[in-house]
Amino acid sequence: MSNVVIVGAGFAGLAAARVLAPKHTVIVVDKGRGIGGRAATRRIDEATLDHGAQFITTHTAEFADEVQHWITAGVAAPWFHGQVGPHGVAGSDGHVRYRGTPTMNSIPRHLAAGLDVRTSTTVTALHTENDRWRVQFDDDVLTADAVMLTSPVPQSLALLDAGGVVLDTDDRAALEAVRYDPCIAVLAVYDSPVELPEPGALRLTDSPIDWMAEHVRKGVSARPAVTVHTTASFSEEHWTDSNDEVVATVLGAAPFLHARAAVATQVHRWRYARPSVPHPAPCLHATNLPPLLFAGDAFDGAKVEGAFLSGRRAAEQMLALI
Ligand SMILES: Cc1cc2nc3c(=O)[nH]c(=O)nc-3n(C[C@H](O)[C@H](O)[C@H](O)COP(=O)(O)OP(=O)(O)OC[C@H]3O[C@@H](n4cnc5c(N)ncnc54)[C@H](O)[C@@H]3O)c2cc1C
Repeated sequence: MSNVVIVGAGFAGLAAARVLAPKHTVIVVDKGRGIGGRAATRRIDEATLDHGAQFITTHTAEFADEVQHWITAGVAAPWFHGQVGPHGVAGSDGHVRYRGTPTMNSIPRHLAAGLDVRTSTTVTALHTENDRWRVQFDDDVLTADAVMLTSPVPQSLALLDAGGVVLDTDDRAALEAVRYDPCIAVLAVYDSPVELPEPGALRLTDSPIDWMAEHVRKGVSARPAVTVHTTASFSEEHWTDSNDEVVATVLGAAPFLHARAAVATQVHRWRYARPSVPHPAPCLHATNLPPLLFAGDAFDGAKVEGAFLSGRRAAEQMLALI
């Protein structure tokens, strides 16, 4: 049995850990307070809001099978069919949108059951030592035979740089080519119902807003609460605006809210929200180093489905290496 450290307890890291854990000693570490990465849910007063990934679609039989397991386990359910536009469901594209039950974060928590997952554990550097890895934390260190990095690629590269690990030139160039779009999420809680059209979600065009969802209608929240995601260009342009400025601009532009006063608001800035330039393979095995794999949604797939399948493919490759 080899010791494997997986950085990141999002869909990619957890999918990988489930493949590797029956055969090796696997530790998943995440700097976040909870499990799930960008499949994030937040509570504000009695309101509950999914503020990262909003729904899941399936485009492969492999992932559709996995989602069926989640439905059977009671952590996912169909939310709506088709695409949404500015007035709710705009038309069928043949795909069901699944939500987490009760929240998006329920699914990664289900995947983590039985695994050794350590949250609030930030990796600060990766070093090599005698053909093994030394994984450095603020006040601790783990040695590992193999490492999988599922953190957003720029963050993964920073960990190697901090430990003085030199990647093969081609690997480095391929990883540096990966790009992400940012997204600002505005979360707003209301004291009376917010009437968004069925299914309680909108996608806008010609607006700073890309997506809005109301969480009572979605079945997530006991109290009216809306998540608003801004477009990549708005997010870039307004990244350093104060939270008050962002809230005023975004909620002011939000249809169906009619500039109503929210009882509570929060802002979350997703620096690496979605890959805009992905790597063209499901994972990357670093050459000329102790076993090291890169995986995540930036590897050939995007979204929850891409992240999950990337983690699986990376784990299969890892099994062949250790
Ligand atoms: C606003 C938004 C909306 C989205 N909407 C959808 C949607 O509707 N449908 C869909 O399918 N997808 C959506 N996505 C994309 C989806 O959330 C991601 O593709 C998927 O969750 C990525 O999973 P991952 O495991 O690759 O990465 P992540 O979930 O980002 O996991 C990486 C983890 O690495 C951890 N980490 C980073 N650095 C360190 C470190 N130094 N030490 C320890 N841990 C570290 C992070 O804390 C994080 O938990 C959305 C994303 C965002 C941000």
